[in-house]
Amino acid sequence: MVIFMTDVFSQSKRSEIMSKVRSHENKSTELKLIKIFKELNITGWTRHYKVKGHPDFVFLKKKTAVFVDGCFWHGHDCRNTVPKSNQEYWSTKIRKNKEHDDQITARFQNRGWNVIRIWECELQKKKRSHLLLKLADLFEKDA
Ligand SMILES: [Zn+2]
Repeated sequence: MVIFMTDVFSQSKRSEIMSKVRSHENKSTELKLIKIFKELNITGWTRHYKVKGHPDFVFLKKKTAVFVDGCFWHGHDCRNTVPKSNQEYWSTKIRKNKEHDDQITARFQNRGWNVIRIWECELQKKKRSHLLLKLADLFEKDA
C-alpha cells in the first residue's frame, strides 16, 4: 500500500494513482481465485461479464455473482483499515465504497441472484475452510 504518497500529491493525482493500484490489486486477487476454482473443479464462471455492478465473476447457470473485495478498500475489519494520515479522506472513501457494495449486492439479490462476496484475505491458504463454505453453492451437484 502506497499510503505515503497521500501527503505529496493533490487529491486528483492521488485518486488517479490509487485507481491504478486498485485495478492492479484486483487483477492479482482475481487470478488467485481462478486458481482456486481450478483446484476445486468449480466451472461455469465468466470473468468480467458486462453487467451493471461489475462482479469479478459470474456464474450464469447458477445466477451467482462473485465479488472479490480488497480488505482495505472495502473496509474489512481484519486489519486496521484507516491509515494514520488523511484519516478523514480515507474513512469517507471506504465508507462510500461499502455503501456502494451494499447497493450492488441488493441490486443483484432483488433480481433473484445469489451474491458471494469474498474478502481478499480469505484467499490465503490458512483461511481455505472459510472460503470453501462461501463457495459451497458453486460446486457441481447435478453432475
Ligand atoms: Zn480481510
